[in-house]
Amino acid sequence: MKKATQVIHAGSRRDINMGGLNTPLLASSAIEYLDDSEVRYPRYFNTLNHNVVAEKMSALEGAEAGLVTSSGMAAIASILFGLLTDGDHVIFTQGLYGGTHALIVNELKRFGIQHDFSAPDINAIRQLSRPETRMVFVESPGNPLLSVVDLAAVAEYAQAQDIISVIDNTFATPILQNPLAMGFDLVMHSGTKYLSGHSDLCCGTVNGPARLLDKVRNHAVNHGGCLNAQDCHLLERSLKTLELRVQRQSENAGVLAGRLNQHKQVLRVFYPGLEDDPGFEIATRQMRGFGGMLSFELVSDIDPVSYLRRLQLVICAVSLGGVETTICQPTATSHQKIPTAERQRLGITPGLLRLSVGIEDVEDIAADLLQAMS
Ligand SMILES: *Cc1c(COP(=O)(O)O)cnc(C)c1O
Repeated sequence: MKKATQVIHAGSRRDINMGGLNTPLLASSAIEYLDDSEVRYPRYFNTLNHNVVAEKMSALEGAEAGLVTSSGMAAIASILFGLLTDGDHVIFTQGLYGGTHALIVNELKRFGIQHDFSAPDINAIRQLSRPETRMVFVESPGNPLLSVVDLAAVAEYAQAQDIISVIDNTFATPILQNPLAMGFDLVMHSGTKYLSGHSDLCCGTVNGPARLLDKVRNHAVNHGGCLNAQDCHLLERSLKTLELRVQRQSENAGVLAGRLNQHKQVLRVFYPGLEDDPGFEIATRQMRGFGGMLSFELVSDIDPVSYLRRLQLVICAVSLGGVETTICQPTATSHQKIPTAERQRLGITPGLLRLSVGIEDVEDIAADLLQAMS
């Protein structure tokens, strides 16, 4: 089945008691067990509404197994702590989500897990490889400069070294990019973003082979980051429009990237769909569209905060992936905790603004972004 069909039908179960079309919401935390093949409990990640969303995501990512967690960070923590142990080494690419960065620098060392940050290219990753390296973790397109990693090259390297490859696929969504088909072992999402898409849920997902998912789930069961049935049910509903939303967001972002790129008060636009973007060639190869996220840098005589205040339609907010267009200044939000010198080295200046393009009419979004520059 194609994505637009999978989002509607994969995993979902009709209500056998009343004939309802939708998966029933099973809110019970106490479930009969004598005639069941397993003991079911919300924190065991095996109740009806959990399984339905996990199966839908498995279909969309082309995976054998899946897990739905209480946040994107719970998904990442379950992967890292479920699969790594004392003495292991991990390579992370730069340009990770701020919360992931914080988890790495604040928590891993205490558990004896070593790490390095690599430039997002395969040669840099190879150079950081050690005999103890057990995992490579990438984000593509990355945050906030939309840098693109060559996924087939990373997967090939990981397979040759017999290490686990993991990708945070939040920005691309399974609609535009399927890393498992390129040889990655695990794919995770902050479901808070595009998967839920209406800025009203906090959740995460992990998909991959059962042999790895079992370990990730065991860790998650012990640490308790399960998602309640109501939110699983809402996530299932949201996923049904994922394909429609992402296609529109990606289309809108392409138009806006082109307009901003030609504007004299914009220094630079970061969007892998622009032909002069360093990620264009690889993105064209590995994605089915360039996504709804873009960043742009205002010329230095526009004060970025005043610019944000002049916007009337576009909302200044953290998070991303909603149906409404939102904007944020990474130096004040997602990348606030990164030291200034390091930010400058990465090219994250105060004039850099990150736009999460919604599904509104693109002309209305463009008009608002441009009026606030004058
Ligand atoms: C938001 C986000 C996360 C963390 O997800 P939460 O749901 O906030 O825990 C991880 N990765 C990326 C790329 C994100 O945007």
